[in-house]
Amino acid sequence: MNELSVPRPNDLDAYFMPFSDNKYFKSHPRLLARAEGMSYFTPEGKEVLDGTAGLWCSNAGHGRREIVEAIQKQAAILDFAPTFQLGHPLAFEAAARVADLTPKGMDRVFFTNSGSESDDTALKIALAYQKARGQAQRVRLIGRERGYHGVGFGGMSVGGIGGNRKQFGTQLPYVDHLPSTHLPAQNAFVKGQPAHGAHLADELERLVNLHGDTIAAVMVEPVAGSTGVLVPPVGYLERLRELCTKHGILLIFDEVITGFGRIGNHFGSERLGVIPDMITMAKGLTNAAVPMGAVAVSDEIYDTIVNGVAGGIEFFHGYTYSGHPLAAAAAIATIDIHVREDLPGRAKAMEPYWEEATHSLKSSPNVIDIRNFGLIAGIELQPREGKPGDRAMQVFRRCFDDGLLVRVTGDIIALSPPLIIEKSHVDRIFSTLADAIHKEAA
Ligand code: PMP
Repeated sequence: MNELSVPRPNDLDAYFMPFSDNKYFKSHPRLLARAEGMSYFTPEGKEVLDGTAGLWCSNAGHGRREIVEAIQKQAAILDFAPTFQLGHPLAFEAAARVADLTPKGMDRVFFTNSGSESDDTALKIALAYQKARGQAQRVRLIGRERGYHGVGFGGMSVGGIGGNRKQFGTQLPYVDHLPSTHLPAQNAFVKGQPAHGAHLADELERLVNLHGDTIAAVMVEPVAGSTGVLVPPVGYLERLRELCTKHGILLIFDEVITGFGRIGNHFGSERLGVIPDMITMAKGLTNAAVPMGAVAVSDEIYDTIVNGVAGGIEFFHGYTYSGHPLAAAAAIATIDIHVREDLPGRAKAMEPYWEEATHSLKSSPNVIDIRNFGLIAGIELQPREGKPGDRAMQVFRRCFDDGLLVRVTGDIIALSPPLIIEKSHVDRIFSTLADAIHKEAA
């Protein structure tokens, strides 16, 4: 079988697919065999417009020649080098290039292979930092309801999605959650940042009153993506920052989705004007051409850990593939494209058109809320009686069959196109989606 042919039935059986209804998929396989620019192509050659940049990740569009060539070239020069107590030049260069984009003073970069690994790494860095500065009692981690921080035990526990935990009894201890910022009664159909909800950050003050100085870190997504595009209320992140600083708690932004131009700046923290102590990232870092994640940490955190613990190795954590040569090459080539083509600027320039197009769905049947920020949109549908998630799944399947890739989470349709999107693509996305929503309601 080559990569453009349809899998044989046995091949379909062999693959234990992630986050999928395996049985349904294998009876109705929908396959993507090739990608270029704004589009995927099925094995039969049918075009599927990419409304989701893959999984929020191919921000520079698909099949970028510079990235492909960088990976090919690096594979021939150095396929792999051990990463502990040794290094190779591209990992250092990639770290410096990432640090050029992160907020000032957040110039140290730890490499991982995914968003989940970045999030678990950041939680461990937070604990190591607190211990290194003499605050070993700070072992509590605070997440937020409807937060998604990947699938490792740390991220799963700190994340706020019950469904992702229910099969696995054991969770990390000493974890609390802030309330979700989703206030549909006050904020439905708001464009951009909602006005109501900054007060929800004050729950952190209550947790501090309850737990004293045992909290190590708070982790949130600046814009929650996977649970349906929840945009932070005006003043909310500022309030969280203020409380974290006041109480000696680290603030971690999970920018696995919002990083790399998605909301109009290299990182969401810049757009939102709130600087955390750590930023986790993945996806757009390599344009998803090779798996790679990273955690950017403040100089203060790095210095405290590196200088604060006796012994030769300062941080007992890392991955065989941290800073892998092919991933490092892909990251450098991707960042070159972001800077040269000003992808964040392109996203910002397209945002008003995107916003209007998104909200044009307000009059479509069963649409109960629409949320947008940067080049992200969430369209929430009225769940079908007794069958949550079914309506949006039907819309997803219709869209795919009509040549558009959308993402579904519960009864919410999420969109996050490559940042190279043109107005004609925006028009195609929303006319296909409106049509699918209407057909589903008929
Ligand atoms: N954090 C956020 C905010 C994410 O959206 C995701 C993935 N959608 C992750 C973490 C996990 O990333 P990965 O799937 O690469 O482990």
